[in-house]
Parts: sequence; structure tokens; C-alpha cells
Amino acid sequence: MHIAIIGNGISGITAARFIRKLSDHKITVISAETDYFFSRTALMYIYMGHMRRQDTQPYENWFWEKNRIDLKRGFVKKVNHQNNELLFEDGKKMSYDKLIIACGSTPNKFGWPGQDLDAVHGMYSMQDLEAMEKYSDGLKQAVIVGGGLIGIEMAEMFHSRNIPVTFLVREASFWNGVLPAEESAMVNRHIFENHIDLRLETELKEIVDDGNGKACAAITNKGDRIDCGFVGLTAGVHPNTDFLKDSGIEMKKGILINEFFETNIPNIYAIGDCAEIQNPLPGRRSVEAIWYTGRMMGENVAYNICKQKIAYDPGIWFNSAKFFEIEYQVYGTVLAKPPENHISIYWEHSDGKKSIRVIYDKDTNKILGFNLMGVRFRHEVCEKWLREKTNVEEVLQNLAIANFDPEFYKTYEDQVLKIYNQQAGRNLTSQKKRSWSNAFSFLKS
Ligand SMILES: Cc1cc2nc3c(=O)[nH]c(=O)nc-3n(C[C@H](O)[C@H](O)[C@H](O)COP(=O)(O)OP(=O)(O)OC[C@H]3O[C@@H](n4cnc5c(N)ncnc54)[C@H](O)[C@@H]3O)c2cc1C
Repeated sequence: MHIAIIGNGISGITAARFIRKLSDHKITVISAETDYFFSRTALMYIYMGHMRRQDTQPYENWFWEKNRIDLKRGFVKKVNHQNNELLFEDGKKMSYDKLIIACGSTPNKFGWPGQDLDAVHGMYSMQDLEAMEKYSDGLKQAVIVGGGLIGIEMAEMFHSRNIPVTFLVREASFWNGVLPAEESAMVNRHIFENHIDLRLETELKEIVDDGNGKACAAITNKGDRIDCGFVGLTAGVHPNTDFLKDSGIEMKKGILINEFFETNIPNIYAIGDCAEIQNPLPGRRSVEAIWYTGRMMGENVAYNICKQKIAYDPGIWFNSAKFFEIEYQVYGTVLAKPPENHISIYWEHSDGKKSIRVIYDKDTNKILGFNLMGVRFRHEVCEKWLREKTNVEEVLQNLAIANFDPEFYKTYEDQVLKIYNQQAGRNLTSQKKRSWSNAFSFLKS
């Protein structure tokens, strides 16, 4: 059987690796972007000089041949499912028995005048990075449009080369559709501390042409003109599915799939950023464009194709990122605008750069989520508490076992507990100390 995979990102590559582990099928991974898989989340570190391009490739180049995974560079123009055939831009064709579409996302553009000028780019692909590199030479001012995780990375990238940045964010506070108010305010402060010209409640109206087809200024909805040599478009992403428009594969926001990653067409599957789950679990989105989801889906689809059909279980929600120096982790359900039964215990360090938020259910006292800024918790410990719907008091009394850094911030677990005691009229004390052996015995229990 020949399995073709469109996309050599984390989703497609994980699928290929697991199909190889589980079978002897012929595998071809196709990509228009690069010859080899690289870690998209590390793109910024290439620009900032922390990594070379080859350091972002998790596998040596010989890995693919050794594992009999064929790599093909090319853009698939059309999927012809009647003949089980792919048509490439250069006119070549490839037949398949099963097809996995893992074609990822593409940056949003909202029809702004000037959005297709030179020196206007998203920050998604290797080509975007190359464009940033090209225009950074002698760049005196950049404008970034859209305040999400990628926008702030782009701001940090330019900042690392001392290129002044104006950052246009539509919302009243950074990423406040996702972050609770205090954490969002913390990031605002931190952006200002890094001398970024953050303009909240400000939208892009137009990008100005310099007369030669290149951007030379951005105009905001407030009528301000910012002269610049580069405009970064980072107002979110959407599934990169234009090439599938007339393919007969059903799509809404993304490629519609059931819990087995099956599309409406037999033998065609979709995974990762481009896939839209028809019936997501309560509290989960139909498109989850994050690294961990792609990896899980890649492994699961391989199992479904090679072994037996098992419904996709996205597990406990987890995401992590970095806002300049502040690391961010979220586990479980932490909503920017929580319902009345979600009770929040929020502790913030006096330096204003670290915080812990613990969410629990008012009616059941079960733990619901953790939101961490500048503090890292052990993934497995948080996941176990959330999976087992542990009582919040048990969690808080044992919070130390979740912590990674015994040597730092010695007292904050007690402070979180103190806040809970005040809020709930209790008098609990910590029961466990930070140590790997405490965490280990908890995980074994
Ligand atoms: C700058 C940046 C930082 C990020 N940071 C984080 C983070 O910290 N944590 C996190 O969880 N997530 C992060 N993400 C999101 C994460 O990287 C994505 O969710 C993930 O990479 C998506 O993987 P994928 O395999 O589904 O798609 P992709 O990685 O997009 O791979 C799809 C590939 O398919 C190719 N392709 C598409 N169409 C065709 C076609 N017709 N023919 C041939 N090839 C095609 C594309 O060119 C691309 O190479 C970040 C994303 C970006 C851009």
C-alpha cells in the first residue's frame, strides 16, 4: 500500500514515523516548503542567532532513507480522489492508496489595502523567515499587526536586532481573549519594558506603497501614519486549504474529519492545523492549531490506518509559549472570561513577572486548570491532577510536587495556599516539599 502525506510538519512527519514503526507500507511525504522537517516553533531562534537552520531539524538527513520514508519536494495543486491521484504544480502526477492531508495553516489577511506589497509578511514559513531576514538589513522601523503568540515572537525577533517595533493590537489588552486580565496586563507591562511601541485598541487600516510596490508606511484606524520598512501580519492563522477548494473534500473552517481523522472521501484523512473536528469535546475547539495536537493526531492516524480504529482523545489541554522572557504554560481549562462557577486563586510575585493561577469548580471543588507565568510546573503532575479531577485542597496542599525549580522562589506554594485559605475561610498547610522523589511517588500512586 502506498500512503502519501501532504505536509512535512510535525503532523505529517509524526504520521510517517509511526506508520513506519507499525508497517511496511510505502510512504511518501510531500512538502512545498522545505526538503526536510524542521521545528516551526524554533523559527525565531534562527533569526535571533541562537540556532542554525540545521539545529532546528530533529532528524539527520540520512534518517529518511534509512527508514524508507520517501521525501518529495513539490506543491500539490489538486487532489483527484476519483483516480486516487495527486497533481503537482509542475504537471507531474502521483497515485496513492491512502492520503493523509497535513497541510497546516497560513497567516490571516483581512483584505487590507497594501497587504500584498513587498516587505509585508506573516511569520509562518521558512520563506517568511527568509523575507524577514532580507528586509531586516538596514531596517529602521517595523510594524506588527495582531497581538497573539506569533506577533510577540516577531516583536522579540526585531527587538533582538535593535530594530524599533510598533505593535498594533486590536484588543484593549494583549491576547485578552485567551489570557485572564492579570496575566494579560503582565504581558502588556513586559512588552513596554522591552521598549516596544505597543498600541492597544489600534487596528491596521492600510499599508502604503512606496511607489515601487514595497511597503513604506502603515496607517492605523486612528489616522496615525507609521513610516516603516516592514509590516508583519500576525493576526492569527487559518487552515491552508485553498488548493482543495474543488476537490470534493468537505471543508468548513478546515478539512472536516470525524474522530478517526476520516474525511468524507474514503481513504483520505486530515490531521494537524488543517483539520476541523466535526464534534469536538465540550470546551475544546474544532481546530486546535498547536504543535502538541499535530503530534498526537499524527501518531493516532498511523495507528488507525495500520492497526485498528481508535477514536481521537485530545487529552488534557496544554499549551506553552514565551512572551519575551516570561514563560507561559496552561493546563486544563483557564478562561479569559470564566463562568460564575470557575473560582480562581491568583498569586503574583512582587516582581510582576511570575504568577500562578489555580482554577477550580465552585460546586464540586474539583481542580479545573493551571495558568503559569514565569513558573514551570511538571506536565505529568498537572495532567494527573486534572485527569483525576482532584479536590482543589489536595492539590494546593501538595502544590510543591508540581514545581521544577527547588532552588527558586522558596515560599510561593505557601503563598498560593494562604490566598486560598483567605478566600475560602480555611486553615490548610502544605504537606509536601519540592522534590523529584515526591513527584515520582505521586505519579506512581
Ligand atoms: C512562529 C510560530 C511559533 C509557534 N509556536 C508554537 C508554540 O510555542 N507552541 C505550540 O504548540 N505551537 C506553536 N506554533 C504552532 C505550531 O507550530 C503548529 O501548530 C504546527 O507546526 C502545525 O503543524 P502541521 O504539521 O499541522 O502543519 P505545518 O507545520 O504547517 O506543515 C504543513 C506543511 O505542508 C506544506 N503544504 C501545505 N500545502 C501543501 C501543498 N498543497 N503541497 C505541498 N505542501 C504543502 C506546507 O508548506 C508546510 O510545510 C507556532 C507556529 C509558528 C508559525
